[in-house]
Amino acid sequence: ERSPEAPEENPRKKRRSGDVAVVVEHYNARPDVGVAQRQESPIIGLKSFNNWVKSVLITKFAHPAFATSPNGRKGRGMRGRVLDMGCGKGGDLTKWAKANVAELVGLDIAAVSIEQAQARHVSSKGARFTASFFALDCYTRVLSDALPPNLLSTPFDVVSMQFCMHYAFESETKARTMLRNVSTWLRPGGIFIGTIPDAKMLIDQLDALPANSKDLSFGNSVYKIRFEDRENRPIFGHRYWFYLQDAVDDVPEYVVHWDNFVQLASEYGLHPIYKQEFHQVFEEFHEQPEFAPLLQRMHVVDANGESQMDEDQWEAANVYVGFAFE
Ligand code: SAM
Repeated sequence: ERSPEAPEENPRKKRRSGDVAVVVEHYNARPDVGVAQRQESPIIGLKSFNNWVKSVLITKFAHPAFATSPNGRKGRGMRGRVLDMGCGKGGDLTKWAKANVAELVGLDIAAVSIEQAQARHVSSKGARFTASFFALDCYTRVLSDALPPNLLSTPFDVVSMQFCMHYAFESETKARTMLRNVSTWLRPGGIFIGTIPDAKMLIDQLDALPANSKDLSFGNSVYKIRFEDRENRPIFGHRYWFYLQDAVDDVPEYVVHWDNFVQLASEYGLHPIYKQEFHQVFEEFHEQPEFAPLLQRMHVVDANGESQMDEDQWEAANVYVGFAFE
């Protein structure tokens, strides 16, 4: 007799593995456009702002972890090892170079993105750090099964998961595998940073929909979120569909219920030290001397200090929160 858990007999499992395929195909299919074309994006202001927020998180929370790193070499300043899980096409490589990283390991389930990240690193003239990239499902496989042992013989100072951790909350097993991968190779006192959709914002908007509405979607011209169910709100596998103009085409994602995440992370020795909505990150840091000029350099504001985001982009930015754990 077949076990009732056999995947082919369990329609829920079938649907779920379909979700991963949608995510992988989506990211593999997105072209890696050059710098010039990137500037042409209709939501370039929002993309630049997201990059600025990531730079703030890296500078404020990740870079300081290099100061106490056993990996930092004498006379070469603060340098450390970083694990970028869900690194995509390597969009954060320059940020890490500026943070004076010594070594970076980038992982992503999308093999095409990994090739592009590798190519981007090789072609970047100023990249004076070692980087290696691997295609890996970080939510179903443990790193030690897939990476060369020498890459794991020294612990990481920082693990970064930008705009990707929510895919792990499809199931408790995946979220646990993800947290195991984050924590096992992070040194004591190391830092885990990330960006995820804000569960409170998502749920508040869902609750604000008219009670008799069959259409469970909300958003604006830039983003759209569509829930499948109003009542059923599981702590894992709480699915919605996400659309972001010129970035994400109706891809399945999962709510990261914050308290549940914190509770689970604590089982892996990870404790929150920062969590803030993107608008709050802006409020907190935009006037600080190290981040104000960066707003202009990263094209979040123009030479006159005018925001490059319209109202809808600014609203879409606040779908996300940034966090740091130790
Ligand atoms: N971190 C990059 C950035 O900030 O530009 C990429 C973010 S992109 C929105 C989300 C990434 O998560 C995609 O590259 C996708 O392939 C990756 N991803 C989704 N599920 C994953 C998994 N199970 N393991 C590793 N990467 C995954």
